[in-house]
Amino acid sequence: MRPQDILMPVPAGLCCKPGGFHIDPVRPVERALITHGHSDHARAGHGAVLATQETLDMMRLRYGENFAGTTQAVAYGEEIRLGDVTVTFHPAGHVLGSAQISVTCKDTRIVASGDYKDARDPTCAPFELVPCDVFITEATFGLPVFRHGDAADEVKKLLASVKLFPERAHLVGAYSLGKAQRVIALLREAGYDAPIYLHGAMEKITYYYQERGIPLGELRPARGMKKAELAGTITLAPPSATSDVWTRRFPDPVTAFASGWMRVRARARQGGIELPLVISDHADWDGLTATIAATGAGEIWVTHGQEDALVHWCKSKGLAARPLDLVGYGDEDESEAAAVTGEAEPTGEGQPVGETKKP
Ligand SMILES: [Zn+2]
Ligand SMILES: [Zn+2]
Repeated sequence: MRPQDILMPVPAGLCCKPGGFHIDPVRPVERALITHGHSDHARAGHGAVLATQETLDMMRLRYGENFAGTTQAVAYGEEIRLGDVTVTFHPAGHVLGSAQISVTCKDTRIVASGDYKDARDPTCAPFELVPCDVFITEATFGLPVFRHGDAADEVKKLLASVKLFPERAHLVGAYSLGKAQRVIALLREAGYDAPIYLHGAMEKITYYYQERGIPLGELRPARGMKKAELAGTITLAPPSATSDVWTRRFPDPVTAFASGWMRVRARARQGGIELPLVISDHADWDGLTATIAATGAGEIWVTHGQEDALVHWCKSKGLAARPLDLVGYGDEDESEAAAVTGEAEPTGEGQPVGETKKP
């Protein structure tokens, strides 16, 4: 069977005709399989939704009880028969509950990886390599300039700054689903045991991570604190909040931003970021190329991000490769950072990002 008869890009998203479902649809559909809770992948309004328990819970937290007609939780590795295909979900290492979706029809296996990373993350299950015939990869950081290094070293920079400026508050801009919790967990691993403060927009998801057994230490709302009490502390906030009036409640704040984009110094400068922290929840160039090779797939479909460079790399390795024109997906860091850098229209938390393809 030809792979394009199993999965095909249509305006609503990746469509599996023989299985009767879409993966991460950007428009309401009858049956949706969702890779993870970020708002550009997990939208409200579908008939039936199949996802991991965590992804379903996050959708419920963001959109309310009635975000879908019916829901079904799937465990990693559990086989589910849908029409003529078998699907299984496997850890993607991106955020808590994130999954790659494997679709098998007859003897052809396609893996739609969603967003993924192969770097260590104490807040979610590690990326699992799934051998396949066709691998659908993202390309958010699909250029050789993107090499992210060790996130633990970036957190050490943050702690060094806190030590150096005990009279100042540290505000760390971080995407509120995944990145924020990962930064907190890395701070704890580095031995930081003081309370960590949260912007209101961080609270629901962060407390949910704790409920699911991810140890994040003592957390406190930043709300209601006196200015002087926040000297020497660390607060996590959505990136857009670190440049608005909200920061006035903090003493002489040091503004940090945890994002893979912080590898690009101009972006940090433009956004007025004093302390850029290169921490990404997406695979970097080395991660993408190593993963593609390791899947053993002979055919690679490349979606959201820097498709061309990655397609070129695949072809140079003798793999069949093509960009998939899927619209409506963005990078979570970039969408929340847009408010900081003024580069693009800011998209609100939990709001659909609009079906425009980024340049
Ligand atoms: Zn994502
Ligand atoms: Zn994405």
